[in-house]
Amino acid sequence: MKQKHLIIVGSGWAGMKLARELKKYPQEKLKVTLISDITTFRYSAALYRAATGHKEHEAIIPISEILSDNPHINFIKETITHIDREKKVISTKDGMKFHYDYAVLALGVVTSYFGIPGIDQYSYNIKTTSELHHFRAHLHREMIDENSLDKSYNVIGAGPTGVELAAALTSYIKIIAKKHKIKSSKLRINLIEAQKRVLPISNEKASQKTLKRLRKLKVKVMLNQKVELQTPDFLQVNGVQIPTSTVIWTAGVTNNPFFKKNEAQFSFNPKGKVVVDNHLMVDDAVYVIGDNADTPYSGLGLTAVDNAGYVYKDLKRQLKGSRRRPGYKPLVPATAIPAGKKWAVFQYKKFVLTGPIASLIRSIADLVAYSDILGYKKALHIWLTSEEKEEKCQVCKASFNQS
Ligand SMILES: Cc1cc2nc3c(=O)[nH]c(=O)nc-3n(C[C@H](O)[C@H](O)[C@H](O)COP(=O)(O)OP(=O)(O)OC[C@H]3O[C@@H](n4cnc5c(N)ncnc54)[C@H](O)[C@@H]3O)c2cc1C
Repeated sequence: MKQKHLIIVGSGWAGMKLARELKKYPQEKLKVTLISDITTFRYSAALYRAATGHKEHEAIIPISEILSDNPHINFIKETITHIDREKKVISTKDGMKFHYDYAVLALGVVTSYFGIPGIDQYSYNIKTTSELHHFRAHLHREMIDENSLDKSYNVIGAGPTGVELAAALTSYIKIIAKKHKIKSSKLRINLIEAQKRVLPISNEKASQKTLKRLRKLKVKVMLNQKVELQTPDFLQVNGVQIPTSTVIWTAGVTNNPFFKKNEAQFSFNPKGKVVVDNHLMVDDAVYVIGDNADTPYSGLGLTAVDNAGYVYKDLKRQLKGSRRRPGYKPLVPATAIPAGKKWAVFQYKKFVLTGPIASLIRSIADLVAYSDILGYKKALHIWLTSEEKEEKCQVCKASFNQS
Protein backbone atom coordinates (compact mmCIF):
# COMPACT_ATOMS: atom_id res chain seq x y z
CA MET A 1 0.00 0.00 0.00
CA LYS A 2 1.31 3.45 -0.94
CA GLN A 3 2.18 5.60 2.05
CA LYS A 4 -0.57 8.14 2.78
CA HIS A 5 -0.02 11.63 4.15
CA LEU A 6 -1.99 12.84 7.15
CA ILE A 7 -1.85 16.48 8.18
CA ILE A 8 -2.98 17.41 11.68
CA VAL A 9 -3.45 21.13 12.21
CA GLY A 10 -3.40 22.44 15.78
CA SER A 11 -1.28 21.49 18.78
CA GLY A 12 -4.15 21.63 21.25
CA TRP A 13 -5.99 18.90 23.13
CA ALA A 14 -7.34 17.27 19.97
CA GLY A 15 -4.23 17.57 17.78
CA MET A 16 -1.80 16.38 20.44
CA LYS A 17 -4.02 13.50 21.55
CA LEU A 18 -4.22 12.29 17.96
CA ALA A 19 -0.43 12.66 17.57
CA ARG A 20 -0.01 10.52 20.70
CA GLU A 21 -2.36 7.81 19.40
CA LEU A 22 -0.53 7.73 16.06
CA LYS A 23 2.69 6.78 17.83
CA LYS A 24 1.36 3.22 17.59
CA TYR A 25 0.66 3.37 13.86
CA PRO A 26 3.20 1.99 11.31
CA GLN A 27 5.18 4.85 9.84
CA GLU A 28 5.59 3.19 6.43
CA LYS A 29 1.83 3.28 5.97
CA LEU A 30 1.24 6.82 7.15
CA LYS A 31 3.39 9.93 7.06
CA VAL A 32 2.20 12.39 9.71
CA THR A 33 2.77 16.15 9.64
CA LEU A 34 1.66 18.26 12.58
CA ILE A 35 1.27 21.96 11.81
CA SER A 36 0.65 24.56 14.47
CA ASP A 37 1.12 28.30 14.82
CA ILE A 38 2.75 27.82 18.22
CA THR A 39 5.50 25.54 19.49
CA THR A 40 3.69 24.53 22.66
CA PHE A 41 0.68 22.62 23.89
CA ARG A 42 -1.49 24.63 26.27
CA TYR A 43 -3.07 22.59 29.01
CA SER A 44 -5.83 25.13 29.44
CA ALA A 45 -7.24 23.50 32.57
CA ALA A 46 -4.10 24.68 34.43
CA LEU A 47 -3.85 28.17 32.93
CA TYR A 48 -5.54 29.75 35.95
CA ARG A 49 -2.88 28.09 38.11
CA ALA A 50 -0.03 29.37 35.94
CA ALA A 51 -1.66 32.81 36.22
CA THR A 52 -1.62 32.64 40.01
CA GLY A 53 1.89 31.61 40.97
CA HIS A 54 2.23 27.99 39.84
CA LYS A 55 4.96 26.85 37.46
CA GLU A 56 4.16 27.80 33.88
CA HIS A 57 5.26 24.37 32.68
CA GLU A 58 2.12 22.94 34.27
CA ALA A 59 0.06 24.69 31.60
CA ILE A 60 2.44 25.39 28.72
CA ILE A 61 4.46 22.41 27.51
CA PRO A 62 6.85 22.48 24.52
CA ILE A 63 5.79 20.28 21.61
CA SER A 64 9.41 19.10 21.29
CA GLU A 65 9.14 17.67 24.81
CA ILE A 66 5.84 15.95 24.05
CA LEU A 67 7.06 14.47 20.77
CA SER A 68 10.51 13.47 22.06
CA ASP A 69 9.41 9.82 22.17
CA ASN A 70 7.35 10.11 18.97
CA PRO A 71 9.99 11.16 16.41
CA HIS A 72 8.24 10.11 13.24
CA ILE A 73 5.78 12.97 13.56
CA ASN A 74 7.10 15.89 11.58
CA PHE A 75 6.28 19.17 13.34
CA ILE A 76 6.09 22.39 11.35
CA LYS A 77 5.42 25.80 12.90
CA GLU A 78 3.17 27.60 10.46
CA THR A 79 -0.19 29.35 10.45
CA ILE A 80 -2.58 27.78 7.98
CA THR A 81 -4.67 30.22 5.98
CA HIS A 82 -6.39 28.26 3.20
CA ILE A 83 -7.63 24.85 2.30
CA ASP A 84 -8.48 23.60 -1.20
CA ARG A 85 -10.57 20.54 -0.55
CA GLU A 86 -10.80 19.64 -4.22
CA LYS A 87 -7.03 19.55 -4.73
CA LYS A 88 -6.42 18.42 -1.13
CA VAL A 89 -3.97 21.22 -0.43
CA ILE A 90 -3.47 23.28 2.74
CA SER A 91 -1.62 26.61 2.40
CA THR A 92 0.09 28.67 5.06
CA LYS A 93 0.71 32.35 5.78
CA ASP A 94 4.34 31.99 4.63
CA GLY A 95 3.29 30.56 1.27
CA MET A 96 3.96 26.89 2.00
CA LYS A 97 1.65 24.30 0.44
CA PHE A 98 1.01 20.83 1.77
CA HIS A 99 -0.77 18.05 -0.08
CA TYR A 100 -2.74 15.64 2.10
CA ASP A 101 -4.59 12.38 1.73
CA TYR A 102 -6.26 13.05 5.08
CA ALA A 103 -6.40 16.24 7.12
CA VAL A 104 -7.57 16.85 10.67
CA LEU A 105 -8.42 20.45 11.53
CA ALA A 106 -8.34 21.20 15.26
CA LEU A 107 -7.67 24.92 15.45
CA GLY A 108 -9.58 25.79 18.61
CA VAL A 109 -11.47 29.01 19.26
CA VAL A 110 -10.37 32.62 19.71
CA THR A 111 -11.38 35.33 22.17
CA SER A 112 -14.37 37.49 21.35
CA TYR A 113 -14.88 40.83 23.10
CA PHE A 114 -18.38 41.33 21.70
CA GLY A 115 -17.33 44.79 20.51
CA ILE A 116 -17.39 46.26 24.06
CA PRO A 117 -15.36 49.50 23.91
CA GLY A 118 -11.97 49.37 25.63
CA ILE A 119 -12.13 45.73 26.69
CA ASP A 120 -9.88 44.49 23.88
CA GLN A 121 -7.41 47.27 24.67
CA TYR A 122 -7.24 47.29 28.48
CA SER A 123 -8.36 43.90 29.77
CA TYR A 124 -6.11 40.94 30.46
CA ASN A 125 -6.58 37.37 29.33
CA ILE A 126 -4.91 34.10 30.27
CA LYS A 127 -5.34 31.98 27.14
CA THR A 128 -1.94 32.35 25.50
CA THR A 129 1.60 32.39 26.84
CA SER A 130 2.08 36.10 26.17
CA GLU A 131 -1.29 36.98 27.74
CA LEU A 132 -0.33 34.99 30.80
CA HIS A 133 3.04 36.79 31.11
CA HIS A 134 1.41 40.16 30.59
CA PHE A 135 -1.18 39.53 33.31
CA ARG A 136 1.27 38.23 35.88
CA ALA A 137 3.70 41.07 35.18
CA HIS A 138 0.86 43.60 35.63
CA LEU A 139 -0.10 42.29 39.09
CA HIS A 140 3.47 42.68 40.34
CA ARG A 141 4.33 45.87 38.45
CA GLU A 142 1.31 47.62 39.95
CA MET A 143 2.37 46.67 43.47
CA ILE A 144 5.90 47.93 42.80
CA ASP A 145 4.77 51.22 41.21
CA GLU A 146 1.81 52.07 43.46
CA ASN A 147 2.95 50.35 46.64
CA SER A 148 -0.66 49.31 47.14
CA LEU A 149 -3.25 46.87 45.85
CA ASP A 150 -5.44 47.78 42.92
CA LYS A 151 -8.79 49.28 43.98
CA SER A 152 -10.42 46.12 42.65
CA TYR A 153 -9.61 42.99 40.66
CA ASN A 154 -12.35 42.15 38.21
CA VAL A 155 -12.87 38.80 36.54
CA ILE A 156 -15.45 38.90 33.77
CA GLY A 157 -17.42 35.75 33.06
CA ALA A 158 -18.44 33.25 35.75
CA GLY A 159 -17.89 30.18 33.60
CA PRO A 160 -15.34 27.57 34.78
CA THR A 161 -12.29 29.75 34.00
CA GLY A 162 -13.76 32.82 35.72
CA VAL A 163 -14.71 30.85 38.83
CA GLU A 164 -11.33 29.09 39.03
CA LEU A 165 -9.41 32.31 38.53
CA ALA A 166 -11.41 34.54 40.89
CA ALA A 167 -11.11 31.94 43.66
CA ALA A 168 -7.37 31.44 43.08
CA LEU A 169 -6.76 35.20 43.07
CA THR A 170 -8.17 35.54 46.59
CA SER A 171 -5.13 33.75 48.00
CA TYR A 172 -2.54 34.65 45.34
CA ILE A 173 -2.96 38.42 45.68
CA LYS A 174 -2.56 38.12 49.45
CA ILE A 175 0.59 36.02 49.05
CA ILE A 176 2.30 38.41 46.67
CA ALA A 177 1.09 41.50 48.58
CA LYS A 178 2.89 40.12 51.62
CA LYS A 179 6.09 39.70 49.60
CA HIS A 180 5.73 43.28 48.39
CA LYS A 181 5.09 44.37 51.99
CA ILE A 182 1.61 45.66 51.16
CA LYS A 183 -1.45 45.25 53.39
CA SER A 184 -4.18 43.19 51.73
CA SER A 185 -7.06 43.79 54.16
CA LYS A 186 -8.89 45.84 51.52
CA LEU A 187 -8.58 43.23 48.77
CA ARG A 188 -11.65 43.30 46.55
CA ILE A 189 -12.24 40.66 43.91
CA ASN A 190 -15.33 40.97 41.73
CA LEU A 191 -16.66 38.17 39.56
CA ILE A 192 -18.98 39.72 36.99
CA GLU A 193 -21.48 37.66 35.04
CA ALA A 194 -24.17 38.70 32.55
CA GLN A 195 -26.36 35.69 33.28
CA LYS A 196 -28.35 35.11 36.45
CA ARG A 197 -26.09 32.45 37.94
CA VAL A 198 -22.46 31.34 38.14
CA LEU A 199 -21.39 28.33 36.03
CA PRO A 200 -24.29 28.71 33.58
CA ILE A 201 -23.23 25.46 31.87
CA SER A 202 -23.64 23.44 35.09
CA ASN A 203 -26.92 22.57 36.78
CA GLU A 204 -28.66 24.78 39.41
CA LYS A 205 -27.37 22.77 42.35
CA ALA A 206 -23.73 22.97 41.23
CA SER A 207 -24.20 26.64 40.53
CA GLN A 208 -25.71 27.40 43.98
CA LYS A 209 -22.99 25.50 45.83
CA THR A 210 -20.29 27.28 43.88
CA LEU A 211 -21.87 30.67 44.61
CA LYS A 212 -21.82 29.88 48.32
CA ARG A 213 -18.20 28.80 48.11
CA LEU A 214 -17.15 31.96 46.26
CA ARG A 215 -18.88 34.13 48.83
CA LYS A 216 -17.06 32.25 51.59
CA LEU A 217 -13.79 33.07 49.84
CA LYS A 218 -14.92 36.74 49.83
CA VAL A 219 -15.31 37.00 46.09
CA LYS A 220 -18.00 39.57 45.32
CA VAL A 221 -20.21 37.81 42.79
CA MET A 222 -22.11 40.25 40.58
CA LEU A 223 -24.84 38.52 38.57
CA ASN A 224 -27.07 39.93 35.78
CA GLN A 225 -24.38 42.54 35.15
CA LYS A 226 -23.51 43.74 31.69
CA VAL A 227 -20.04 45.06 31.01
CA GLU A 228 -20.37 48.24 28.94
CA LEU A 229 -16.98 49.92 28.77
CA GLN A 230 -13.42 49.85 30.03
CA THR A 231 -10.91 52.69 30.31
CA PRO A 232 -7.41 52.63 31.87
CA ASP A 233 -9.01 53.68 35.20
CA PHE A 234 -12.42 52.06 35.43
CA LEU A 235 -14.77 49.38 34.26
CA GLN A 236 -18.38 50.31 33.58
CA VAL A 237 -20.96 47.69 34.49
CA ASN A 238 -24.74 48.30 34.29
CA GLY A 239 -24.04 52.05 34.25
CA VAL A 240 -21.81 51.98 37.35
CA GLN A 241 -18.09 52.77 37.18
CA ILE A 242 -15.82 50.45 39.16
CA PRO A 243 -12.35 51.96 39.71
CA THR A 244 -9.71 49.46 38.53
CA SER A 245 -6.87 48.77 36.19
CA THR A 246 -7.20 44.99 36.53
CA VAL A 247 -9.88 43.37 34.42
CA ILE A 248 -9.53 39.79 33.24
CA TRP A 249 -11.77 38.77 30.39
CA THR A 250 -12.85 35.12 30.39
CA ALA A 251 -16.29 35.65 28.92
CA GLY A 252 -16.44 35.07 25.20
CA VAL A 253 -15.03 32.93 22.43
CA THR A 254 -15.80 32.48 18.78
CA ASN A 255 -14.77 29.90 16.19
CA ASN A 256 -11.31 30.16 14.64
CA PRO A 257 -11.24 32.83 11.88
CA PHE A 258 -9.68 30.27 9.49
CA PHE A 259 -13.16 28.83 8.87
CA LYS A 260 -14.73 32.19 8.08
CA LYS A 261 -11.87 32.88 5.65
CA ASN A 262 -12.61 29.59 3.93
CA GLU A 263 -16.37 29.75 4.38
CA ALA A 264 -17.20 28.49 0.91
CA GLN A 265 -15.67 25.16 1.90
CA PHE A 266 -17.65 24.55 5.09
CA SER A 267 -21.19 24.65 6.48
CA PHE A 268 -21.82 26.23 9.86
CA ASN A 269 -24.32 25.99 12.72
CA PRO A 270 -25.81 29.26 14.07
CA LYS A 271 -22.92 29.57 16.54
CA GLY A 272 -20.36 29.41 13.71
CA LYS A 273 -19.15 25.86 14.45
CA VAL A 274 -18.43 23.61 11.49
CA VAL A 275 -21.09 21.05 10.64
CA VAL A 276 -19.60 17.56 10.46
CA ASP A 277 -21.03 14.15 9.59
CA ASN A 278 -21.21 11.25 12.03
CA HIS A 279 -17.53 10.47 11.32
CA LEU A 280 -16.60 14.06 12.30
CA MET A 281 -15.77 14.72 8.64
CA VAL A 282 -16.71 17.39 6.11
CA ASP A 283 -15.77 15.16 3.15
CA ASP A 284 -14.05 11.81 2.72
CA ALA A 285 -10.63 13.26 3.58
CA VAL A 286 -11.09 16.12 6.09
CA TYR A 287 -11.98 15.77 9.74
CA VAL A 288 -12.93 18.84 11.81
CA ILE A 289 -12.78 18.19 15.55
CA GLY A 290 -12.56 19.70 19.04
CA ASP A 291 -13.87 23.20 19.64
CA ASN A 292 -14.26 23.78 15.88
CA ALA A 293 -16.88 21.11 15.33
CA ASP A 294 -20.63 21.22 15.86
CA THR A 295 -20.88 18.25 18.25
CA PRO A 296 -23.04 18.01 21.40
CA TYR A 297 -20.28 18.78 23.94
CA SER A 298 -17.95 20.89 21.81
CA GLY A 299 -16.04 23.47 23.86
CA LEU A 300 -14.48 21.09 26.37
CA GLY A 301 -11.00 19.62 26.36
CA LEU A 302 -12.52 16.25 27.23
CA THR A 303 -14.62 16.34 24.08
CA ALA A 304 -11.62 17.33 21.96
CA VAL A 305 -9.65 14.36 23.33
CA ASP A 306 -12.59 12.04 22.80
CA ASN A 307 -12.99 13.29 19.19
CA ALA A 308 -9.29 12.62 18.55
CA GLY A 309 -9.56 9.09 19.97
CA TYR A 310 -12.43 8.42 17.59
CA VAL A 311 -10.55 9.89 14.60
CA TYR A 312 -7.62 7.58 15.28
CA LYS A 313 -9.87 4.52 15.20
CA ASP A 314 -11.78 5.73 12.15
CA LEU A 315 -8.58 6.53 10.25
CA LYS A 316 -7.20 3.09 10.99
CA ARG A 317 -10.39 1.54 9.62
CA GLN A 318 -10.23 3.71 6.50
CA LEU A 319 -6.57 2.90 5.87
CA LYS A 320 -7.32 -0.79 6.29
CA GLY A 321 -10.16 -0.48 3.78
CA SER A 322 -12.58 -1.71 6.39
CA ARG A 323 -16.23 -1.59 5.35
CA ARG A 324 -17.42 -1.29 8.93
CA ARG A 325 -17.03 2.26 10.14
CA PRO A 326 -19.16 2.96 13.22
CA GLY A 327 -20.12 6.60 13.68
CA TYR A 328 -18.95 8.86 16.50
CA LYS A 329 -20.87 8.55 19.77
CA PRO A 330 -20.43 11.64 21.94
CA LEU A 331 -19.11 11.12 25.44
CA VAL A 332 -21.24 12.76 28.13
CA PRO A 333 -18.55 14.74 29.95
CA ALA A 334 -18.12 15.01 33.70
CA THR A 335 -16.86 18.37 34.96
CA ALA A 336 -14.82 19.13 38.09
CA ILE A 337 -14.29 22.84 38.62
CA PRO A 338 -12.01 24.00 41.43
CA ALA A 339 -12.69 27.08 43.54
CA GLY A 340 -9.83 27.65 45.94
CA LYS A 341 -7.65 25.13 47.73
CA LYS A 342 -9.00 21.61 48.24
CA TRP A 343 -12.48 22.47 46.98
CA ALA A 344 -14.15 21.71 43.66
CA VAL A 345 -17.62 21.13 42.29
CA PHE A 346 -17.98 17.85 40.43
CA GLN A 347 -20.95 17.17 38.17
CA TYR A 348 -21.82 14.13 36.12
CA LYS A 349 -25.27 14.30 34.55
CA LYS A 350 -27.51 15.21 37.56
CA PHE A 351 -25.07 14.07 40.23
CA VAL A 352 -23.24 16.88 42.06
CA LEU A 353 -20.49 16.56 44.63
CA THR A 354 -18.53 19.41 46.26
CA GLY A 355 -15.57 19.72 48.61
CA PRO A 356 -12.23 17.95 49.03
CA ILE A 357 -13.30 14.68 47.34
CA ALA A 358 -14.41 16.58 44.26
CA SER A 359 -11.06 18.38 44.38
CA LEU A 360 -9.29 15.00 44.44
CA ILE A 361 -11.36 13.84 41.47
CA ARG A 362 -10.26 16.96 39.62
CA SER A 363 -6.63 16.29 40.45
CA ILE A 364 -6.89 12.71 39.14
CA ALA A 365 -8.67 13.98 36.04
CA ASP A 366 -5.67 16.28 35.45
CA LEU A 367 -3.31 13.30 35.62
CA VAL A 368 -5.44 11.37 33.14
CA ALA A 369 -5.60 14.38 30.79
CA TYR A 370 -1.82 14.91 30.91
CA SER A 371 -1.34 11.19 30.21
CA ASP A 372 -3.60 11.39 27.17
CA ILE A 373 -1.25 13.93 25.63
CA LEU A 374 2.18 13.18 27.11
CA GLY A 375 2.14 9.53 28.09
CA TYR A 376 2.08 8.34 31.67
CA LYS A 377 5.71 9.02 32.74
CA LYS A 378 5.91 12.65 31.68
CA ALA A 379 2.37 13.22 32.93
CA LEU A 380 3.23 11.87 36.36
CA HIS A 381 6.25 14.17 36.62
CA ILE A 382 4.19 17.29 35.88
CA TRP A 383 1.41 16.14 38.18
CA LEU A 384 3.71 15.37 41.10
CA THR A 385 5.41 18.76 40.86
CA SER A 386 2.18 20.70 40.38
CA GLU A 387 2.34 22.39 43.78
CA GLU A 388 5.68 24.03 42.94
CA LYS A 389 5.60 27.81 42.60
CA GLU A 390 7.46 30.14 40.26
CA GLU A 391 7.85 33.94 40.17
CA LYS A 392 9.61 36.20 37.68
CA CYS A 393 9.10 39.32 39.82
CA GLN A 394 12.43 40.36 41.39
CA VAL A 395 10.80 41.44 44.67
CA CYS A 396 9.07 38.07 45.07
CA LYS A 397 12.19 36.16 44.03
CA ALA A 398 14.21 37.98 46.69
CA SER A 399 11.54 37.15 49.26
CA PHE A 400 11.60 33.46 48.16
CA ASN A 401 15.35 33.38 48.72
CA GLN A 402 15.02 34.89 52.22
CA SER A 403 12.32 32.46 53.36
C1 LIG B 1 -8.64 29.19 30.29
C2 LIG B 1 -9.33 27.93 29.82
C3 LIG B 1 -9.55 26.89 30.72
C4 LIG B 1 -10.18 25.71 30.29
N1 LIG B 1 -10.36 24.69 31.19
C5 LIG B 1 -10.91 23.52 30.77
C6 LIG B 1 -11.06 22.42 31.68
O1 LIG B 1 -10.72 22.52 32.85
N2 LIG B 1 -11.60 21.25 31.20
C7 LIG B 1 -11.99 21.13 29.90
O2 LIG B 1 -12.47 20.04 29.52
N3 LIG B 1 -11.86 22.14 29.01
C8 LIG B 1 -11.33 23.33 29.42
N4 LIG B 1 -11.21 24.38 28.54
C9 LIG B 1 -11.66 24.19 27.15
C10 LIG B 1 -10.55 23.49 26.37
O3 LIG B 1 -9.35 24.23 26.47
C11 LIG B 1 -10.92 23.40 24.90
O4 LIG B 1 -12.14 22.75 24.76
C12 LIG B 1 -9.82 22.61 24.17
O5 LIG B 1 -8.61 23.34 24.19
C13 LIG B 1 -10.22 22.36 22.71
O6 LIG B 1 -9.20 21.65 22.10
P1 LIG B 1 -8.86 21.88 20.56
O7 LIG B 1 -7.77 20.92 20.23
O8 LIG B 1 -10.11 21.87 19.77
O9 LIG B 1 -8.32 23.38 20.49
P2 LIG B 1 -7.05 24.05 21.25
O10 LIG B 1 -6.65 23.25 22.42
O11 LIG B 1 -7.45 25.47 21.46
O12 LIG B 1 -5.94 23.96 20.16
C14 LIG B 1 -5.94 24.69 18.97
C15 LIG B 1 -4.55 24.68 18.37
O13 LIG B 1 -4.56 25.17 17.03
C16 LIG B 1 -3.54 26.14 16.86
N5 LIG B 1 -3.96 27.03 15.78
C17 LIG B 1 -4.96 27.92 15.80
N6 LIG B 1 -5.10 28.52 14.59
C18 LIG B 1 -4.14 27.99 13.79
C19 LIG B 1 -3.77 28.19 12.42
N7 LIG B 1 -4.44 29.03 11.63
N8 LIG B 1 -2.73 27.48 11.92
C20 LIG B 1 -2.06 26.59 12.72
N9 LIG B 1 -2.38 26.37 14.01
C21 LIG B 1 -3.41 27.05 14.54
C22 LIG B 1 -3.48 26.80 18.25
O14 LIG B 1 -2.29 27.51 18.46
C23 LIG B 1 -3.58 25.57 19.14
O15 LIG B 1 -2.35 24.91 19.23
C24 LIG B 1 -10.61 25.58 28.95
C25 LIG B 1 -10.39 26.63 28.06
C26 LIG B 1 -9.76 27.79 28.48
C27 LIG B 1 -9.51 28.92 27.50
